Amino acid sequence: AQQMLISSEKLATAGQLAASIAHEIRNPITSLKGFLQLLETGIEGKEDYLKIMKDEIDKIEAISKEMLYISKPSPNQFEEDDIVSVLEDVCMLMRSQARMNDIDLVLESDMEAFDLYCDPQQLKQVFVNLIKNAIEAMEEPGSITIRVTNEDDLYVDVIDEGPGVPDSLKAKLGQPFFTTKDKGTGLGLMVTLDILESHRASLTIHDHEPQGSIFRLQFRQS
Ligand code: ADP
Ligand code: MG
Repeated sequence: AQQMLISSEKLATAGQLAASIAHEIRNPITSLKGFLQLLETGIEGKEDYLKIMKDEIDKIEAISKEMLYISKPSPNQFEEDDIVSVLEDVCMLMRSQARMNDIDLVLESDMEAFDLYCDPQQLKQVFVNLIKNAIEAMEEPGSITIRVTNEDDLYVDVIDEGPGVPDSLKAKLGQPFFTTKDKGTGLGLMVTLDILESHRASLTIHDHEPQGSIFRLQFRQS
């Protein structure tokens, strides 16, 4: 089954977003305060508490980093750029992270080059987000394939061999703070959809056989 993801724009007005950010940051802060109080009383198992506290601080840090990007998106710098070499750059960047997880990152393209009117810095952000998610989804060694095809429109598929996305969750992806990960922020796909909207591009999710998912970007060429 496939699912079209819609931009967060309609889901999150600025006010709603601010409220959910406050909420997301308050949770780890509340827990930090609780642990600090426990430590003050000189309780046993200090190391465990410190570990949890560090995780909570990491979470606040991750959220603030992504918020910075959202609140101060660099102005669009649109230009004609070769999307294949943009993808080569991103793959080079992400390959070491993939390798550490025993994952091959493969780029397959019909064409040696394809000029696309785009903001290459922002598109890199999109592909980094999708590849990061693909790596995080894969629990076993395998490969992630980035496939570029041109049939009237330009398609870029990011294909992984992870568990796939359950149908019941597909519509939730891209909603601010929706995450199924312990250390996730649930902001990556939201940012991704926002950038894609400015490129008149759409993102759909498909199941990959025998296992995994395909995040398919479609760039309209007319
Ligand atoms: P985060 O990665 O911080 O959780 P994202 O917005 O990037 O936030 O992703 C939201 C959720 O979408 C993830 O928590 C995960 O449940 C799901 N998801 C995204 N990409 C994939 C994928 N390739 N395979 C399976 N699930 C995915
Ligand atoms: Mg992510």
